[in-house]
Amino acid sequence: MQAGLLDTYQRPTRTRGAIAWVLSAVITTFYLLLYLPGSSFTPNFPDVLTPISTWMHLPSKWFLYGLLYSILMVGGGVAMLRRHGNSNYHRIRTVTVVSVQIVLGFSLPLVLKLLDKPELYLTYVWPLSYDKLFPDTLAGLPAAAAIYFVVMSLIGFPLLAWRYGKRFYCSWVCGCGGLAETFGDPWRHLSDKSNKAWRIEQYSIYTVLGLVLLTTGLMIGDGVSRAGLVGEAKYAPAIAVSTQLASLSEAVGQGARTDLPAVASEVSAQVAELNPPSWVTDKVKEVDAAAAKGEAPAVSEAIKNLAYSVMPEGKLGPLAHKAKAFYSFFIGAMFSGVLGVGLYPLMGTRVWCRFGCPMAALLGLMQKLGRFRIAVKKDMCISCGNCSAYCEMGIDVRAYAMGNMDVRRASCVGCGMCAHVCPRGVLRLTSAADAGPGAKVGEWMVDL
Ligand code: SF4
Ligand code: SF4
Ligand code: SF4
Repeated sequence: MQAGLLDTYQRPTRTRGAIAWVLSAVITTFYLLLYLPGSSFTPNFPDVLTPISTWMHLPSKWFLYGLLYSILMVGGGVAMLRRHGNSNYHRIRTVTVVSVQIVLGFSLPLVLKLLDKPELYLTYVWPLSYDKLFPDTLAGLPAAAAIYFVVMSLIGFPLLAWRYGKRFYCSWVCGCGGLAETFGDPWRHLSDKSNKAWRIEQYSIYTVLGLVLLTTGLMIGDGVSRAGLVGEAKYAPAIAVSTQLASLSEAVGQGARTDLPAVASEVSAQVAELNPPSWVTDKVKEVDAAAAKGEAPAVSEAIKNLAYSVMPEGKLGPLAHKAKAFYSFFIGAMFSGVLGVGLYPLMGTRVWCRFGCPMAALLGLMQKLGRFRIAVKKDMCISCGNCSAYCEMGIDVRAYAMGNMDVRRASCVGCGMCAHVCPRGVLRLTSAADAGPGAKVGEWMVDL
């Protein structure tokens, strides 16, 4: 057992005291300032973060957010290692998840942006990044990136979860999990371990998975029905505008058109002829904004996206876009961002991961079908409760250990903390085919 373990409950920031409430309010306010401006539900909310990011010479408020996020992960990672760094697993895992955030979560998109290329967040695939399979998103990506996101979302990540458990992503790669494991470490013990919380978790997480499936299905259905309308004469004007926009996007992308304000005016005029719905005019505003900043690649990308959007709308169109707006605001922003991080000091660090994340639901199902489990040494548990107390996902690990049962829970993110804090070495995370008495030591994924 490592130094400092038992002081967890004695510090005011970690015991839901006044300081924890203040901290929760500060984090929540920051996320509201981040997400509310510009949302279709709160279009007039003042944007205070964009001027700050401009003053810092960052391309947008999202890079300011990424910078703060990375700083918190580095600082939290150092503190986490001072506390739990006497384990190989935690040393390698923490360095990996922080490096992934710095390299792939922050630096790569920033460099691509500075090189006037489309920003790519390669570590976020569907369904966590809920719009990655939407036809309009795929239409706006380079072909190789579109193929990458489709293959990783539907095959790559689920297969890895089946083989290694969802820890490969949730504890080693995902930025949300990374923040929880580093900055959030002091609050991991606050997760609710009750059976009632487990029941709520099962309903809520699969409800969100259902919502993302429904929204994605509607968006894909809309795309297919649009394609079916292409041959009909009455849609000829919309198709002509779409074709012109696609050529314009290519011309801007290849540098053949550099007069961006004039291009933006052309786009507006062409789209206006179609009497478009509000979600299309929102996309015209994106072209205007990119042109005003003089960002040719962003203009090209926004026009390409618009070229898809002005295609004739099928019957599913209005419903699909309402579902997208609902999911984006209430689940993608309010639940995962505002509540997910804002509640760290009060309900622990995995509120979103446990109760909302559709990726957790999907990878959790694959994990249940696969090999990953926490192997329990029989008749060794002394019921001290450390493992359950430190489980950020609210799993009562002690109950399994006392019952001599391996832990096979869809929600386990494989953080390894239960095994780390066990004074008797009862628990071991494994993906080995056979973890019985005859198993070789080398078969363990990482020796805890
Ligand atoms: S549960 Fe979801 S948000 Fe949390 S770490 Fe896993 S994929 Fe990321
Ligand atoms: S059961 Fe153990 S490995 Fe799984 S989430 Fe809880 S503490 Fe982490
Ligand atoms: S498994 Fe280990 S940490 Fe958990 S209750 Fe038993 S002895 Fe304590």
